[in-house]
Amino acid sequence: MISARRVLGRLAYGSRYDRLPLGQRVYVRPGERFARQVQWRWRLRRAPVLSLEDYAATRELGEIEEFLSCMMCGEPRQQPLFEPTGDKGWRYHVVRCPSCGFLYRNPNVRPERLGDLYSSGYSGFLTGAYAANRQRRYQLTMEAFSPVLDQGEGRRLLDFGSGVGLFLELAEQRGFDACGVDLSPDSVERANARLTRARAYHGAPEDVPEIAAGGFDVITLWSVLAHLPRPLDDFQSFRDLLAPGGVLLILTVNARSLQLKTFGSAWSGFTKNHLMFYSSETLPTLLRRTGFAGVAYVPHYGDTIEAGTARMPGPLQWRLRRAVDATDGGNMMRALAFADEEAIARWGDGLKVHRLRRAGLPSAPAGPRDLSDSSEMAT
Ligand SMILES: [Zn+2]
Repeated sequence: MISARRVLGRLAYGSRYDRLPLGQRVYVRPGERFARQVQWRWRLRRAPVLSLEDYAATRELGEIEEFLSCMMCGEPRQQPLFEPTGDKGWRYHVVRCPSCGFLYRNPNVRPERLGDLYSSGYSGFLTGAYAANRQRRYQLTMEAFSPVLDQGEGRRLLDFGSGVGLFLELAEQRGFDACGVDLSPDSVERANARLTRARAYHGAPEDVPEIAAGGFDVITLWSVLAHLPRPLDDFQSFRDLLAPGGVLLILTVNARSLQLKTFGSAWSGFTKNHLMFYSSETLPTLLRRTGFAGVAYVPHYGDTIEAGTARMPGPLQWRLRRAVDATDGGNMMRALAFADEEAIARWGDGLKVHRLRRAGLPSAPAGPRDLSDSSEMAT
């Protein structure tokens, strides 16, 4: 027996939407994306804006943690929004900057303790079922960033956060002179077992002479940006490592995702080791302050849609793409950052390139503020 609610639901929406996962339904069900955007604005209006001191008084600080001001604009005020939790008992708090809209975890992880997150077992997470999805995602990503990654002969590539080397393997197959760095020592070991010409190193780029020498045509940041506790320092380093005409390619969770607006704290982008959440509204600040000349985006419609394996009728797929384009609301953000005008001239064809004016001097990066001596260990 079909319930009255179901009948009404079918009258309103049609049963074909019921069979779609909610993550896809939000893009295609009539009226849904407008409702989610209204819901989001309402959430922002209701959330209080606190001084950093008042905010810090409400939170415990773990041993490896610190309180931050907004890394993008220096704003110290905090708007608490989300409290993601995970099945292994982890939990953290996500705030929004009331000035520029940047979303970040606060308290955050101290950079010198970042290695604690990746010290053991992380390479196990990067293989298995996760690796199968990764391989597919890398193939899709390489297509999305065509032609930058098509021909590697005579070009240098750095994969920052290279994990177990799945992408470096593809890069060497395409002829790139490729190398990678990663914080997890066992991941680096597994990567080097897999690779023939490309090499992976443990540590920071400046620790490896071959990398510190710079001159890279491409630097890739695949699902790494959200893990960086000092993005300004890292991006300054990437800019210095790029050759003239070089590009930085970024894949990260999208803080403007319609799915974030729908699922809130349960959003798939709030994973255990993510620290900061970017969108096309906040990434330009990071790039401008570190000397990049321009940025362009390649929308993400979902891996199954792009791979052609989604079980969704064609007209609905068309509607999904339109909704992603109209709201900048795909679940992942793919960005090309151009080092200079030469890079824009070489790789900007067919893309909508946003030039980054360097108006005035950038303000000093917001420093960490340790407002507590709590010794509770973070998870
Ligand atoms: Zn800000």
